[in-house]
Amino acid sequence: MSTQTANAAASKHESMFDAVLARLDVAANLMNLSEDVKTVLKNPIKQVKVSLPVMMDNGKIQVYEGYRVVHSMAIGPSKGGIRYAMDVNQDEVMALAAWMSFKCAVANLPYGGAKGGIKCDPRAMSVGELERLSRAYAKSMKDVFGVNRDIPAPDMGTSGREMAWILDEFNKVTGEDSPGVITGKPIAIGGSLGRDAATGRGVMVNTLAALKKMGLDPKKVSAVVQGFGNVGSHAARLLSEQGIKIVGIGDHTASFYNENGIDIKAALEFAAKNKNTLKGFTGATEIPSNQLLISKCDVLVPAALQNVINVDNASKIQAKLIVEGANGPTMPDADAILNEKKIICVPDILANSGGVTVSYFEWVQNKAGYYWTEDEVNTKHDHKMEIAFESVWNNAERFKTSMRIAAYITALQKIEQAVKLKGAY
Ligand code: NAD
Repeated sequence: MSTQTANAAASKHESMFDAVLARLDVAANLMNLSEDVKTVLKNPIKQVKVSLPVMMDNGKIQVYEGYRVVHSMAIGPSKGGIRYAMDVNQDEVMALAAWMSFKCAVANLPYGGAKGGIKCDPRAMSVGELERLSRAYAKSMKDVFGVNRDIPAPDMGTSGREMAWILDEFNKVTGEDSPGVITGKPIAIGGSLGRDAATGRGVMVNTLAALKKMGLDPKKVSAVVQGFGNVGSHAARLLSEQGIKIVGIGDHTASFYNENGIDIKAALEFAAKNKNTLKGFTGATEIPSNQLLISKCDVLVPAALQNVINVDNASKIQAKLIVEGANGPTMPDADAILNEKKIICVPDILANSGGVTVSYFEWVQNKAGYYWTEDEVNTKHDHKMEIAFESVWNNAERFKTSMRIAAYITALQKIEQAVKLKGAY
């Protein structure tokens, strides 16, 4: 399904931000969240929309829409990625910002939540155009970003390269050298070892934790991973390193299935030589893209885009466990179907919180000016993820609810405490 189709499906039902609020309401009622705190959390504290004129390679100016939404700063400075994609819009950025507040709270990080984005097609732009666009965005956010205020990171369509440009421009306009103002940076300019693979690593740790609870041996289970970008490719590699047989992979160019298992190392090498895409990979049979999520497997990892698990395909999903690498891959209507089928779903705000966890470690290292080894980062990351998984699992049992609602409850318990202590309403 294309991003556009997925979002059209979403908009038929509700906005993404409404989907967040619907789940917030369910969790709030179960845990008896204070009405005042709920009202505060239903309204992002800051919404910025900017127009970004960029000189294109053909000598003409094109104006792009840029967004930044700060949802909450109850627990600390706001944290959240910057997305470059054609369907970036205010509603989507609001939803992603709220998820960041909940994600940081679930992972027990001292952050609130934010998100940013630019409506553009990065694949259709030259490197020079992307650099000028990233710098224009950084300049326009000089009063929003700050090392103790709002700290961006990469998301869909962005990577360390864009973070380096944004950092450089931000430092130029503010006159400070503040590497911690942005995370997900290349190592040479203050990035953290382990950050690149961290979100995929978190998916792996959460998958192992869930399999253990389900009494399943990782060496006897199969998995399908949708998306072969930062999250999906690292998740597929790390899961296969744990002995899980990856039977399906796919990206926006093609999807593949091999019941005997796909050689992920070969797929990574292929993608690296093929503009990071899978079209033309010969290590498995190509299948229609809409078959990937419903193909036979024990574990399904949607790690590409939102709204891909919906009422049209949820009942056909064969996996016993879903671990959400992407943000918002499951629509609320589909949740009910998955719950009925007793499919366990480790929700995005827990499953993909490994990235922001190591972003937090990067920020801590930048502030201290002292850098950790990759082993130190990974050990601290795995420990934090295991604790987060356990607290969500325990809340699911305590409140007799799904992992998703339990994750919201876990987050809301922490945010409520902070809001009440600060009296921020
Ligand atoms: P990315 O840009 O590196 O990769 C996106 C992948 O999705 C690519 O392989 C792309 O081909 C694929 N894709 C796009 N459209 C598709 C379609 N229609 N069908 C199948 N595949 C499609 O992005 P990413 O950083 O890996 O992010 C993926 C998801 O994970 C997003 O929802 C993002 O918000 C979320 N996420 C990312 C991070 C992170 O650290 N990068 C952290 C938390 C959550």
